Amino acid sequence: MRRFFFDPNNRKGDSIFLADEESRHIAKVLRLPAGSEIELLDGQGTVYQAIIVATGRQVEARIAAVVVEDQGAGKAVWVGQGILKGEKMDTVVQKCTELGVSRFSPFASSRCQGKADLGQNRKRHERWQRIGLAACKQCLRPRLMQIDAPVDLADLLRDTDATLCLLFWEEEKAVHLQDIPELPEAQSVALLLGPEGGFSREEIDLARRFGWLTVSLGERILRAETATLTAVSIVQYLSGNL
Ligand code: SAM
Repeated sequence: MRRFFFDPNNRKGDSIFLADEESRHIAKVLRLPAGSEIELLDGQGTVYQAIIVATGRQVEARIAAVVVEDQGAGKAVWVGQGILKGEKMDTVVQKCTELGVSRFSPFASSRCQGKADLGQNRKRHERWQRIGLAACKQCLRPRLMQIDAPVDLADLLRDTDATLCLLFWEEEKAVHLQDIPELPEAQSVALLLGPEGGFSREEIDLARRFGWLTVSLGERILRAETATLTAVSIVQYLSGNL
């Protein structure tokens, strides 16, 4: 059955009013008439069976039943990603959604290539949110991945409150993911991966002062997007989520 997300603020009793993009998709692209059955997701883990009652610029649907209620008790995996050029970032957002990352925070750091202004960052953030939403629908994930607006690395290092904070660094030779005994049971894990140019020595020192542990992904230097997807996959596997 076709799935659409809605903003829980746009629910009145059993009536759901869909946002512009989802309404356009239903009315103009799919041309679903009133009476069609759809699934509606609140992005927080609940999936509803619903019937379209009005189409047009704003589609209205009525909830018929709750299909799935995901309590979200599993491990929270938070990815901090140095902003990558062009479509590489889109790929990382899409794949992290599929792999079950709960929160994704793009960050700017000293070795990010090209400096984006506020307007560009806002546009890219909106694009990543659209990509995340589409990936959730495709992989039948009921809970949206939270995608933050870009922040500075120093703010992210300071503000992360995960149980375990891991920074992936190609110069770390001793610590690998399988060497961290608390990883499988940790309630929340933050994974930090650098942009194409990696982290500077000063950034590594700052992260360590904030309690981040540096971790290796092996002897070869991986491309940034390969490193992120590898790190997430291993963490999810060791945590029983893959
Ligand atoms: N500093 C390097 C350079 O410019 O040649 C490489 C940066 S690498 C392309 C991008 C990011 O991927 C790094 O900041 C790191 O987070 C991650 N990464 C790549 N290979 C890694 C490895 N073998 N171990 C840990 N992290 C790795």
